[in-house]
Amino acid sequence: MYSIKMRASERENHISGAEKIVPESGIVPVAGALIERGMHHAKGEADFINLKIEKVREEDIRYLDSLPVTTIEVADYRESYEIIARFLSDLGGKGSVKEIMELFRQTWSMRGAMLLDVDSLKRLEPDRERGIRVTYMDRERTGGQISSEKDHYMEAIVLATKVANAPGIVGEICISDDPDYVTGYVCSREKGYVRITRMKEMGSPFGGRIFLYSSGQCDVAETIEYLEKQRVIVRNVFPIQSEKDAVGNVSSGWLQPVISENAASIVQQQTPDRFAFIEEELSRLKKQHLYRKQKTICSGQSKYVEVDGKRLLMLASNSYLDLISDPRVKAYVSQIALSYGAGSGGSRLTTGNTDLHVALEEKLAAYKKCEAVIVFNTGYVPNLATISALAGEESVIFSDELNHASIIDGCRLSRAKVVKYKHNDMEDLERRIREYAPHRGLAVSDAIFSMDGDILQLPEFVEICRRYQLISMIDEAHSTGVLGETGHGIWEQYGYRCARPDIIMGTLSKSVGSEGGFVCADAGIIDYLRNKARGYIFSTSLSPVTVAASLKALEIMENDAGMFARLRENIRTFCAALQECGIHAESETAIVPILVGDEKKALQMQEKLFDAGYYISAIRYPTVAHNQARLRAAVMASHTEEELRGAAKVIVECFSDCENGFCEAI
Ligand code: PMP
Repeated sequence: MYSIKMRASERENHISGAEKIVPESGIVPVAGALIERGMHHAKGEADFINLKIEKVREEDIRYLDSLPVTTIEVADYRESYEIIARFLSDLGGKGSVKEIMELFRQTWSMRGAMLLDVDSLKRLEPDRERGIRVTYMDRERTGGQISSEKDHYMEAIVLATKVANAPGIVGEICISDDPDYVTGYVCSREKGYVRITRMKEMGSPFGGRIFLYSSGQCDVAETIEYLEKQRVIVRNVFPIQSEKDAVGNVSSGWLQPVISENAASIVQQQTPDRFAFIEEELSRLKKQHLYRKQKTICSGQSKYVEVDGKRLLMLASNSYLDLISDPRVKAYVSQIALSYGAGSGGSRLTTGNTDLHVALEEKLAAYKKCEAVIVFNTGYVPNLATISALAGEESVIFSDELNHASIIDGCRLSRAKVVKYKHNDMEDLERRIREYAPHRGLAVSDAIFSMDGDILQLPEFVEICRRYQLISMIDEAHSTGVLGETGHGIWEQYGYRCARPDIIMGTLSKSVGSEGGFVCADAGIIDYLRNKARGYIFSTSLSPVTVAASLKALEIMENDAGMFARLRENIRTFCAALQECGIHAESETAIVPILVGDEKKALQMQEKLFDAGYYISAIRYPTVAHNQARLRAAVMASHTEEELRGAAKVIVECFSDCENGFCEAI
């Protein structure tokens, strides 16, 4: 026989796990099916699957008979507390349900089980983060039947049977940690496997397994050794009949729920705080240095800003051309505010479409050399709204693994099959397309990748999309106003030598220095989006003041090509200054990432730079992968050489201070 174990994770978070014990003939089909399960799990898309196949000697296997199953139907979870209380007292335990429930609350995120001394309620698992992981078990399959389907119920019985037969274990209490699944069980060799239909409040994330251990019977180490290592096959495990049949099995008196006053008071004290998960999650984020705090800027946004009374050189803004506070923009916006007022009063399709909105779309269409443009309220929304309008369940979307979150969210919203390809790797893109050969599909990529600052290989991307009849879509959030001799974006950067991507999405919030997002395409597509893109239809349109800011900024960008040259020069100066000081920095775009790795260290550097008068943001998971934390420096056209060289010097000093442990812990 062979034990096959599969664990799938996404960005190091567990999403699926399963194990089987099968004869040699079952290895290939079961391994394949388990991989399939790990790859396509509702909890996420696996980026790592660990498959372990081990030979199991027949003489090492212990065969056990399944615990008998009974089901007890309770009106609500409060009744289950009474049953648990009786279960505990029958086992001779002295602890109360209140204490048990508190333990579930404290440990709900632990993946393994808790090993609890039934008398003292002392936790015995040697590693409290990991808990006890029960493995090497399966049910017996008759008639050569090999199945890899997940049956939570049968898997639970296998586990409970193994646990109940462990030396030193007198019982188990299990509540699912799935907020939507409230059935749980208690079990012991004497009582069997007792399903209780409501063991917690719907929506509560608290749950887990508690193995109840009684001292004096054997050593804890022996119990753990059995739970983690003993090979077990459980006989006579049957799928659940109907709920009704199972309920009919209820036999022993102790199972009958009787709500006592005592139970009611336990419930009162025990009702889980429905917001407790928030506190838990926040404290987890803090522990892992992933908690986010915001700084408050008390000045206009330009290359210098004021925070907490302190003047800082801004090296983190997406306003690469420093147009936010340009006097020409300010003057025009003030004038428009006086005549149009502050808001737009409705969505574009109702009352929120002014001549300024129309003028902005026409200007952008000319700027991006395409037939038509549709403007949205932010840059985030067009990715959501466009992708979900163009792709559906029947589509396949090919998405670069480093694409921006708004693209990822748009893909999710569309319900299409999403296939990630290796970052900016056109061979992998083509390989993936061939593999899936979609009938209907779309490929989407950032033009400049927002956290790495590198540039999409546009001609190859467009060419591959054309060859395989896919809609091509790019996100020019960071390339408009940066790439190309005159800042028109990535298409200009490549000398207009390839076909235009079908969909060019861009933002007005970065180089343009205003707010909003847009999509450029052929007129038919834009017409379709005006009718189908929900983020456009169901949201009040941008304020005329914001639209005016974009109009004026675009006019300035068209008439002052010098600013793009200044930006390019500044990028070269800054990268060279960092390199001279020994820091690897390379970028052709305004985004200059300085890799730090460790999350805590990146935060420490951010704060140290802040103290030294520089505003540079630390970027951490989930914006980038774990242990890929970085400082994301962003250069502006208005920075002077002196400012950039000064910043590079201070960054290097902070780097070596943190390396040598001189940074304050945060
Ligand atoms: N796409 C990319 C690549 C981005 O970096 C961002 C913002 N950081 C957006 C879209 C969303 O734009 P906005 O901030 O204007 O909503």
